[in-house]
Amino acid sequence: MSIDHLIVIAGPSGVGKSTVVREVLRRTGAVFSVSATTRKPRPDEIDGQNYLFVDRPTFEKMIAEEQLLEWAEIFGDYYGTPEKPVAEALSADKTVILEIDIEGSRQVHQKSPEATFIFIAPPDEDELKRRLTDRGTESQRDIERRFARATEEMCVATGSGIYNHMIVNDDLDRATRQVVGIVKEQTQK
Ligand code: 5GP
Repeated sequence: MSIDHLIVIAGPSGVGKSTVVREVLRRTGAVFSVSATTRKPRPDEIDGQNYLFVDRPTFEKMIAEEQLLEWAEIFGDYYGTPEKPVAEALSADKTVILEIDIEGSRQVHQKSPEATFIFIAPPDEDELKRRLTDRGTESQRDIERRFARATEEMCVATGSGIYNHMIVNDDLDRATRQVVGIVKEQTQK
């Protein structure tokens, strides 16, 4: 099992993380760690593919049984990474991508500081607000909450010393190419 092949991608909600990750998976053959969450699925989301959608008692059981590599409560819902599939993929010499928040990244960093940590930052706050609004999947209140959290996350992330790479997503193609480059480099190790 190579911890070089564990890649954590974090960044505020609405920063374009999912789009970057989707492209990176397509271009590198890395595998996506499917998180468990208690959030309700969005219309285009598929259970077992985007997330494992579970109820709170099920998630709390996963915590109690220490099945999660990391977990966090975000916007009132639980999100966490089931450890077993990650360990199995790493043992099979695959490169695994975790797309998680910065609290989760902190926990992974505590356990596996040699993993690669990438932070994707928005170009500026106005652009982030526009993207959160344009996505059209959240209510105004949710948009405000996500925006407030994003601003806070950026301050924490910058000072945390956890991230090996900070990628500013001012140009989606360029940000994707940069992350693809990092993933390929780690995969070859
Ligand atoms: P969303 O509800 O928009 O899918 O995700 C909200 C936030 O939860 C995003 O920042 C996303 O990266 C984060 N997230 C998704 N899965 C996990 C996970 O397994 N663990 C943690 N800590 N955060 C996650």
